Amino acid sequence: MIKETYSPQETYELGEALGRQARPGDVYCLDGDLGVGKTVFTQGFAAGLGIEEPVNSPTFTIVQQYEDGRLPFYHFDVYRIGDVGEMDEIGYEECFYGQGVSLIEWAGLIREILPETAIQVTIEKDLEKGFDYRKIIVESDLPV
Ligand code: ADP
Ligand code: MG
Repeated sequence: MIKETYSPQETYELGEALGRQARPGDVYCLDGDLGVGKTVFTQGFAAGLGIEEPVNSPTFTIVQQYEDGRLPFYHFDVYRIGDVGEMDEIGYEECFYGQGVSLIEWAGLIREILPETAIQVTIEKDLEKGFDYRKIIVESDLPV
């Protein structure tokens, strides 16, 4: 699926729609340059899961867990990860293979441990189409 958005609100709403549909064990991988809208998408996604707490990028921790939604939600931002071994220390397997929903900003940095069933979301800019334009590609082997 490819969705083009022209405002943060539209990106938020796409995240929200996918968050509403998310199922236990889903792993969402987000990639795209700094400032492209991964966290905006994530905030919508969390809202779609019924999370009311504010969701920001976990700056000092790699993962932030939210329990107040329809399903447990694990928001990873692995931008500052040194090596994949840090994911073991965090106990990522319980997140990826449990009954909650995981979403990973900068997932490309931990490619080797991503489940094959993960849903890939890639966000791109195209300045020729305007400063607020984003192309959002959602790829899944499962029906989304
Ligand atoms: P990332 O998490 O990818 O580093 P953020 O979500 O934190 O990026 O920031 C995205 C920035 O881009 C925000 O300031 C947001 O307002 C802006 N923006 C402009 N247009 C869009 C759009 N179409 N979708 C998402 N964000 C947008
Ligand atoms: Mg971010």
